[in-house]
Amino acid sequence: MTERLYYNDSFLYDFTAQVLDTRELSRSDNQSTWTIKLDRTAFYPSSGGQPFDTGTLIAASKSGVQLEVEVQDVSEDDDGEIWHRVNKVVPPGAAIRGLIDVERRRDHMQQHTGQHLLSAAFIDLLGAKTVSFHLGDQISSIDLDQSTLPRPDLLRVEKLANQVIGEDRPIRVRYATREQAQQMGVRKLPERTGEIRLIDIENFDLNACGGTHARTTGQIGGLLLRRIEKVKQGARVEFLCGMRAVAAARADFELLAETAALYPCSPADLPGNIAKQREEARQIQKREARLLAELAELKAAQMLGEATIAPPGRRLFAQVLEERDAAFIKLLAQKLTRESSAVVAVFGSLQGAPALVFACSADVEINMGALLRELVTAAGGRGGGAKDFAQGGVPDVVALKSVIDRAVLKIQRS
Ligand SMILES: [Zn+2]
Repeated sequence: MTERLYYNDSFLYDFTAQVLDTRELSRSDNQSTWTIKLDRTAFYPSSGGQPFDTGTLIAASKSGVQLEVEVQDVSEDDDGEIWHRVNKVVPPGAAIRGLIDVERRRDHMQQHTGQHLLSAAFIDLLGAKTVSFHLGDQISSIDLDQSTLPRPDLLRVEKLANQVIGEDRPIRVRYATREQAQQMGVRKLPERTGEIRLIDIENFDLNACGGTHARTTGQIGGLLLRRIEKVKQGARVEFLCGMRAVAAARADFELLAETAALYPCSPADLPGNIAKQREEARQIQKREARLLAELAELKAAQMLGEATIAPPGRRLFAQVLEERDAAFIKLLAQKLTRESSAVVAVFGSLQGAPALVFACSADVEINMGALLRELVTAAGGRGGGAKDFAQGGVPDVVALKSVIDRAVLKIQRS
């Protein structure tokens, strides 16, 4: 079985090995993909929530020229063999030098070791057990078996984790039998038998794990809790460690500074300023609504005064108010029909989606709801309402005008 160099030294980024087996995975017009098994490797395969390492394999070809291949994926098969997916073929027997992408691995170690710390802190302070761990490209998360996590408790957990990071405690890899591990008080033991690899954060946490870890808690760099959301059986806690935490804090600050510059004010004054502006907007909306109601009333009075009475003794108002929205034509139709008798109003609005309002005084014997529904449905729209008031919408201005024309004809005939 492939010797796992990363088990004994997480910080081994440069190693030598021999190719044991090479298989072609896929072939396309331009490129083939291969997978390689080595006798020993420091490349970490995706496992236990930690993603694989990437990097380079360098081999000397038959002609003596150096061949460099890119390691794109590393995985472990069911037999425990580790396979490196590469973009060029390296024949079995070749001696290689492996170089691991240091930045990617360090980032993974920071997030992964941070997870050990965070899970231990959640247990210590809240008795919340970690049921799963995910290390993503941007965000890492743990799922806890508790769904209620009050904010002050979360802040205590974050503080404890950062205290332990600041104390720069040693992290050691230890090996034990299952019985020994049980006696040592390891919280969660793997199902398999045989020697168990333990990660010991001095006087803080002891856990079985096959991943790569920092040498001391200080190397985690810092831990920042982010979004908390409820999931099926508990809560998902997003967190960032090391440079990811710094990058997130930087992005948050830039966003705040950009938002504050819009007011302009200091970031600290943003909540107060936003609340104030929302209240002002609410007052303006209320004032606008009052003014529009007054305007509708005045317009209705003017229209009623200027209207001629058509047979059978009705005043019919039919028009498209292009500058007014659906709320205003509704208001105007109500003002016209509710306080006068023998009035019919058929209005269209083109502010926003084309809208229609049909209304009549209580003494008019026409069912406006039925009339509007029939006409807008025929024009490809929707709508309806009561006998004396109805509203609806049509797809476009042509349909709107045609519905109004047809409504006028029908009302005049009835
Ligand atoms: Zn681990």
